[in-house]
Amino acid sequence: MKDHLARCVAEAYAQALPHRGSGRVADYIPALAKADPNRFGFALALPDGTVHTAGDADEPFSLQSVSKVFTLALALRRVGSALWGSVGREPSGSAFNSIVQLESEGGLPRNPLINAGAIATSDRLIDARSADAVVNEILDFVRARAGDASIAIDPEVAVSESETGARNRALAHFMASFGTLRHPVETVLSVYFRQCAIAMNCRQLARAGLFLAMGGRDPLTGEQLIEPHRARRINAIMMLCGHYDNSGEFAFRVGLPGKSGVGGGILCIAPGQGSIAVWSPGLTEAGTSLVGAIALEHFACAAGWSVFD
Ligand code: GLU
Repeated sequence: MKDHLARCVAEAYAQALPHRGSGRVADYIPALAKADPNRFGFALALPDGTVHTAGDADEPFSLQSVSKVFTLALALRRVGSALWGSVGREPSGSAFNSIVQLESEGGLPRNPLINAGAIATSDRLIDARSADAVVNEILDFVRARAGDASIAIDPEVAVSESETGARNRALAHFMASFGTLRHPVETVLSVYFRQCAIAMNCRQLARAGLFLAMGGRDPLTGEQLIEPHRARRINAIMMLCGHYDNSGEFAFRVGLPGKSGVGGGILCIAPGQGSIAVWSPGLTEAGTSLVGAIALEHFACAAGWSVFD
């Protein structure tokens, strides 16, 4: 079985490799524009600790919106179902940074994986703490899940995010005007910008996602991190909302819960089976890694892991 999965990883990597270099590197955050579109990594983490990799799986990249999955898990753990008073759980069908639905929906973002919803989620995670304490909690969480204490924020990306964050500021101020946020806009954004600027590689990210594949329990440390029903619901939200207005296409092609980031990373969860991370910085129009999605489509098909199989 393990040999079969190793072959599926190698096959998916080989099938996607010719597409390397296609897509457009995100440049609206200047620090991300330096990424090389030819980089391509793949890692599959299994609950017994095995990790199968291909390509640039040990090269760190900017987590960007993939971080929203971890802050969602932490916010649900902290405030439980009260989170749904600040953010919905419906697909938006809109771009990642769209503001339009906020006005007609009373300042309540559609879901925690679009920018507005992730900002509202970070706000709830702050609770009564400082922004620095929250950022440390997020870092500690991903470090423990990845089994690597060296995971850190890329300071250049964090500054670049903030300096060019006019749209995210607009979203936050707009929500604040409706009373959606409980903390000052700049405090919330200082968490959001830094969580997006965490740098991880595919091996670490795949390992870090395992708890979502295993009912909220980290299979390698044995810790029950979130209740099983919360893990199930995070997976549902990833399936329906993880790729913004490209979520339907991703479900159609890959059939696994996933979350993309404009750094070119995608985290995919195969419930009960394992966790997959891919990275290649060239993006589709919708901001999803073009090569990464091709690789995941081949992998899910070869492994028979689509939740719809
Ligand atoms: N930091 C990015 C932003 O807020 C995240 C977007 C993404 O990765 O999709 O614009």
